[in-house]
Amino acid sequence: MLQKTDEEILLLKESSLLVGKTLGEVSRHLKSGVETRTLDRIAEEFIRTHGGIPAFKGYNGFPATLCISINDQVVHGIPGSRVVKDGDVVSVDCGAVLNGYFGDYAYTFIVGETDKRTIDLVRVTRESLELGIAEAIPGNCVGDIGYAVQLHVERNGFHVVRDLVGHGIGRHLHEKPEVPNYGKRGRGMPLVENMVICIEPMINSGTWKVVQENDGWTIRTRDHSPSAHFEHMVVVKKGKPEVISTYDFIENRE
Ligand code: MG
Ligand code: MG
Repeated sequence: MLQKTDEEILLLKESSLLVGKTLGEVSRHLKSGVETRTLDRIAEEFIRTHGGIPAFKGYNGFPATLCISINDQVVHGIPGSRVVKDGDVVSVDCGAVLNGYFGDYAYTFIVGETDKRTIDLVRVTRESLELGIAEAIPGNCVGDIGYAVQLHVERNGFHVVRDLVGHGIGRHLHEKPEVPNYGKRGRGMPLVENMVICIEPMINSGTWKVVQENDGWTIRTRDHSPSAHFEHMVVVKKGKPEVISTYDFIENRE
């Protein structure tokens, strides 16, 4: 169903909370020198210890709990023996199932120091997510979200990936509607109260064009420019959209 019941939204909040805590746990260990598969193991153990199931593992054959995408990798990077280095831009996307409902969201970390343009890329990507979220009200269409994201990104000299989009979420990881990060005002599927959607701008410093690596999963920028990715879970609400995911466990940890 496009519209969730209040009870379903409560369940989605619980799944989302588990993803948030998992990302927080991962962030404690995300530093220069760590192998990405170590982060993946930490995430899987954390999810299972808290009664959940990793949502990505086995999804169309994806082999891991996290998608970890570094620098020119946009999304769907497979954790492995790669070691995180100072200056890396690391997108961590996490999904978990709890009580039959999915949580799915992502954060981009800058490890150590990087150049100003890359810092701006990460900031603008996050700002574009906030602007997209603000459009998630009944009476708007998915195109209004994409328009807001695209406008902010392109005004700042960055580029929106076209090949991958956000999505509805519920008892399935990917539900209708598709939520592109580009678009025109008033176009696309109308947004209705209590729809739950994942808005997830994937923004490149260089060309928007992407290619898939030989592993069959990893999407990277065609020109090897860096890319950033943030994702939140949002309930469409009259007046003000409700964000049911949180970065608090990453940013406000003790
Ligand atoms: Mg998603
Ligand atoms: Mg995701």
